[in-house]
Amino acid sequence: MIKLDGKAVAAKCKEDIRARVEALKEQGCKPGLAVILVGDNPASRVYVSNKEKDCAECGFASYEYALPEETTEEELLALVDQLNRDDTVNGILVQLPLPKQICEQTILHAISPAKDVDAFHPENVGHIMIGDFSFLPCTPAGVIEMLDASGIEIAGKHCVVIGRSNIVGKPMAMLLLHRSGTVTICHSKTKDLAAQTRQADILVAAVGKAGFVTADMVKEGAVVIDVGMNRNAEGKLCGDVCYDEVAKKASAITPVPGGVGPMTRAILMRNTLTAAKMQLK
Ligand code: NAP
Repeated sequence: MIKLDGKAVAAKCKEDIRARVEALKEQGCKPGLAVILVGDNPASRVYVSNKEKDCAECGFASYEYALPEETTEEELLALVDQLNRDDTVNGILVQLPLPKQICEQTILHAISPAKDVDAFHPENVGHIMIGDFSFLPCTPAGVIEMLDASGIEIAGKHCVVIGRSNIVGKPMAMLLLHRSGTVTICHSKTKDLAAQTRQADILVAAVGKAGFVTADMVKEGAVVIDVGMNRNAEGKLCGDVCYDEVAKKASAITPVPGGVGPMTRAILMRNTLTAAKMQLK
């Protein structure tokens, strides 16, 4: 059984970005990522500070905007507009979730598609659908990169994705399809989920429920990718997969932490570099 080490693959990925950033700096361009945090969600705070660390590691400038919980939609739109027009900012990321008074879709749609490093803008989602895209959806692209780095073939494999969210499940299915996997998407209305998941050569769990995928749901020798980031009763970070029992059947599996999470962060950095290069042109 191979433990898919996302932390190691992500470190290599960031090293490569750092080298490219050095070359870009010689052309007078230092990529910059602006991260907007509204309110005081402790998990979001951690994500934002991780992004700042990643920016420093990759040689990017990072600009953090921490706004109070009571920020209005108009105030946030005004900041997005200002950053859209700021040449020192190549990528804009609005940390989700946002407070109730702000419509997430309105904000995400206001980000310039050229600076949309999360690839959530409908224009970029459309590009992902047709397979002609500059920005990679961070988590799904991180999964693909990890499979590639481990020499795991996707073409012709039956890939089963549990989850159909716009940020993980749907783009994950699309990227696997672009790589010629035969893809099944499952969700909360899927009948006899285990019968579907047992068909999977590559199983991706993006459900958001700790311990959801058990060994009886997995085919012997399957590759199991755990996207889930949940907290168990003790407050410890854990995935959607019962790691110990599933690892005994899987040919390869991602741990949580140390699997998909670091890859998501690395792809965000790559998207920022891509944005900077595109804007330089
Ligand atoms: P989400 O929007 O809540 O989507 C969850 C999906 O799971 C939905 O499509 C839902 O189906 C499906 N689902 C829920 N219960 C199910 C059941 N009993 N059987 C089958 N499907 C079921 O969550 P998300 O944003 O996609 O995130 C999923 C997980 O990934 C979360 O733990 C999140 O924290 C984690 N995540 C991790 C990273 C990372 O970098 N590692 C990045 C993003 C997200 P319906 O559509 O029918 O409701």
